Amino acid sequence: MYCYSVMLDDISALDKTVTETFSIGKSLMGREIMCMKTGNGAGKLFLAGAYHGLEYLTSALLVRFISEYERSAANGERFFGCDACALFDGVTLFTVPMVNPDGVDIAVNGIDLTDEYHRRLIRTVGIHDFKNVWQANARGVDINHNFDADWDRVLDKPSASKYGGEYPNSESETRAVVNLARKERFDMMIAFHSQGGEIYCDFNGAYTPRSLETAKRMAAASGYEVKIPTGTASFGGCKDWFIKEFHRPGFTVEIGRGKNPLPMSDLDGVYAENAPLILCAMRECAHIAQTT
Ligand SMILES: [Zn+2]
Repeated sequence: MYCYSVMLDDISALDKTVTETFSIGKSLMGREIMCMKTGNGAGKLFLAGAYHGLEYLTSALLVRFISEYERSAANGERFFGCDACALFDGVTLFTVPMVNPDGVDIAVNGIDLTDEYHRRLIRTVGIHDFKNVWQANARGVDINHNFDADWDRVLDKPSASKYGGEYPNSESETRAVVNLARKERFDMMIAFHSQGGEIYCDFNGAYTPRSLETAKRMAAASGYEVKIPTGTASFGGCKDWFIKEFHRPGFTVEIGRGKNPLPMSDLDGVYAENAPLILCAMRECAHIAQTT
């Protein structure tokens, strides 16, 4: 399991001279949504994980990536065959490993009957067993259906997953991401989910040649497959909103294969697939910054 407190411990162990850490806002239950800023470059890449409670392996992946990348950059070493120092000077990474810490806590630890938010959830959602099913935030809104891009409620009431909320950006977790993206105006973003070994680069089936080209490179680096959905509406996902708002490349990467929650024993394999994928996106970002 990779819960919020383990993530905070791992983030606090980072080298503060290399990676700056700060909160981008609070979750509904008051947990700080943490961001790691690594690098000095003009290119800006946004990475985010655990929009969904059961998908905490994405958080473990992102924190491990930053930890190992910052060490290579500080020591002047090569990292998966790349010049880590050159990347550090070419790209600034903003990484939010756990967008939905309340949802991860519910998926990992289940319901705490002493907590008012949790008691209210039982009343509104009508289930009692939340462990190993919970994807939404602490009031049953699916953060990855809450962004303002062809938003739809999808379901008409709070649920373990797929309820889009009362209106777009109704949730503090969604607004924290939106505010950060509007402030930093990233060149590119990747939203990490699990699972499937798939890369998505479209907004409702539409994509630019550059996005598809980058997705194909990331697929070659990871062994994952580029997927273009046909005939399905996406309803308020983060990458959808990013593409719509900024007209820049946004991706969803579905890490690993199997059934959620993916076990922590899958981390080594998932890391070996996704570290090269992230480095591929970083090179692309450095290139965009040089040429625009
Ligand atoms: Zn997800």
